[in-house]
Amino acid sequence: MSMSEKIKIEKKVLSENDRLAGEIRAKLTAGGILALNLVSSPGSGKTSLLERILKDMGDKLRMALVAGDVQTENDAERLARAGGRVVRPIVTGGACHLDARMVGRVLEKLDLSDTEVLVIENVGNLVCPSSYDLGEDMKVVLISTTEGDDKPLKYPSMFRRSSVMIINKIDLLGHSDFDINRVRENARTINADLEIFELSCRTGEGLDAWYAWLIDTAAKKRKDRNR
Ligand code: MG
Ligand code: ZN
Repeated sequence: MSMSEKIKIEKKVLSENDRLAGEIRAKLTAGGILALNLVSSPGSGKTSLLERILKDMGDKLRMALVAGDVQTENDAERLARAGGRVVRPIVTGGACHLDARMVGRVLEKLDLSDTEVLVIENVGNLVCPSSYDLGEDMKVVLISTTEGDDKPLKYPSMFRRSSVMIINKIDLLGHSDFDINRVRENARTINADLEIFELSCRTGEGLDAWYAWLIDTAAKKRKDRNR
């Protein structure tokens, strides 16, 4: 296949994805449901963050979680054990990102009438998930202090397309060369509007600010529907 043929097919796949994502977005917006697409490298703590949210906020915020994984349903099982009321796995069977068709298929079978926040845990990968709209309101990119503080510069498209950056594992600051000021600077160079939270799922530090944002943003989404 020639390069130009390859690009043509890729464009077609992405435009079909955008169409399906638009349908998902319309449906979620009609329901007043805030939808977050949670992205990160493998091992930054996406599932741990969601476990923690369920534990702390499970009775304050009605959440539905869709957990993408390349081969297993382990993350979805962890989240169900942590008390998630609506948790569904998506096993991509090798694909390194979720697409709108996979998410749409799962949402079709879900009763979201009682849901305020939908979090889609994407596959751990900072490259192609940035190109696939899943019908979310915003992407939330998670980075941990055990990674390089140049991640925003290495994966600019993901940080540009995200609205929120969460810096996780701040309890480990000082144990590596990770410089939290530098990561903030690097991220804001790429995306000046990025909202930044710093927290530790292990110690609980910083979680309150993130939860307050979550409650507030979900309330705004519900209000928009009633307008
Ligand atoms: Mg996970
Ligand atoms: Zn991919």
